Amino acid sequence: MTGTDDRQQIFSALGRHWNPGAATMLAAAGRAVESHATGSQVYAEDGTATLDLAGSYGVFLVGHGNPRVAAAVTETLARASAVPPGAVHPVTATLCRYLLGILPTGLDRFVLGSSGAEICEVALRAVHLARPDRRRIVVADGSYHGKTLAALSLLGQRNHRDPFEPLGSDLVVVPYGDAAAVRAAVADGSVAAVFLEPVLGGAHLTVPPPGYLREVAQDCVATGTLLVADEIQTGFGRTGQMFAVRHDDVRPDIMLLSKALTGGFVPVAVCALAGSVVDAAERHPRWHPSLLATGGPISAVAIAAAVATIEEVRDRDLPARAAELGPRLTEGLAAAVRRHPKHLRGAPGIGLMAGLRTANPAVELMVSIGLAQRGVHTGHSLNEQISEPVLRFYPPLTCTATDIDHALAALEEALTWLDRQPRALTRAVSALLRRQYRLPPALLLRLSKSPIRMDWQAG
Ligand code: PLP
Repeated sequence: MTGTDDRQQIFSALGRHWNPGAATMLAAAGRAVESHATGSQVYAEDGTATLDLAGSYGVFLVGHGNPRVAAAVTETLARASAVPPGAVHPVTATLCRYLLGILPTGLDRFVLGSSGAEICEVALRAVHLARPDRRRIVVADGSYHGKTLAALSLLGQRNHRDPFEPLGSDLVVVPYGDAAAVRAAVADGSVAAVFLEPVLGGAHLTVPPPGYLREVAQDCVATGTLLVADEIQTGFGRTGQMFAVRHDDVRPDIMLLSKALTGGFVPVAVCALAGSVVDAAERHPRWHPSLLATGGPISAVAIAAAVATIEEVRDRDLPARAAELGPRLTEGLAAAVRRHPKHLRGAPGIGLMAGLRTANPAVELMVSIGLAQRGVHTGHSLNEQISEPVLRFYPPLTCTATDIDHALAALEEALTWLDRQPRALTRAVSALLRRQYRLPPALLLRLSKSPIRMDWQAG
């Protein structure tokens, strides 16, 4: 068991050497030290349980420590550590077969990598090889595709992109959900690809109008522009369909998958490409097969985890479960918006990908802390700077109706508390956020009632 002194040491080390802002937020939220996790619950060393509705923004789709995935991981670990280039490993063939069985028709070539950003780069390389005469890339305002420099070059979030400019991509940023804007951008045939999240994730969480993706796909086909669907947050049933492009019956040329794919055990990512894209890339005068490959061996454990995760999603029909439980969550959040209009602006969501659009970042932080203090963990937008950030709820698709009701009851309590606070509190928290949490520890402690001394704060 970790005592208060040990907890203090852990937080001090994290605050000094890892991430001062995150350590401050976690300490202020009264975050306990984790011991283990199962299903929707994360247990602390002191025995308290937290309902995890953040799920690492979609990673824990089949729940924490899913037994089927855990068994596949353990069994593979005992036999093989990696699938080095040149090795023939049956589990890779199984993964290909499984992906073919669930992906939209036509996506039949797979490049495996270790992170979403890495396979986003694979997609970008494929796009440039397949469309060598076009340099422009269309992305949506607010979109996110990863943090490597090439992935950053595609970001619709200027605060992450600008410090590193000039980045490689000739970017056209269009408003999300506006098919006419995409049509105008691709009309002259100079755009190599449109990169889109089928539901815009992150603090912007936005569900596009029905038909949006279909219109974009039609315009892409008409102009020879490639459509890349980033399903890293939405894939494997999160939105109530196996993939979110299915809501509009769209077949993208390239699809990006990661996060939920391995049940949270080992990161792995897949760039799924239409054979026609690979054929076009192969006609590039400088073509070589290694141009689309990622470096190094892929973990056999990760591939086995992916296989077991897909079995779990498929056999338990988790997309249908997201479609069934989703309205309970989104309608509950919408009711909270109606009851607390001072602090909330909306409840975007589809399936079990839902959120609360808050009046400002201070409200988002206070609601997330209020929920944490009541044993519910939600997805806070620490890194994004937008005026009305969405606090996210990405529960495991294995969660229960009782989990959702419990979270909604905790939310009501947290919002009722917030409604009673003076405006001065929101102003103080806004100041704290502007200074990236570097406020005098005494003030932070008063605000949070945390037993942790924030000795990493400048003072
Ligand atoms: N694309 C989307 C939509 C994401 O949400 C993320 C990660 O949050 C990425 C790409 C990047 O994935 P990774 O963090 O594994 O590089």
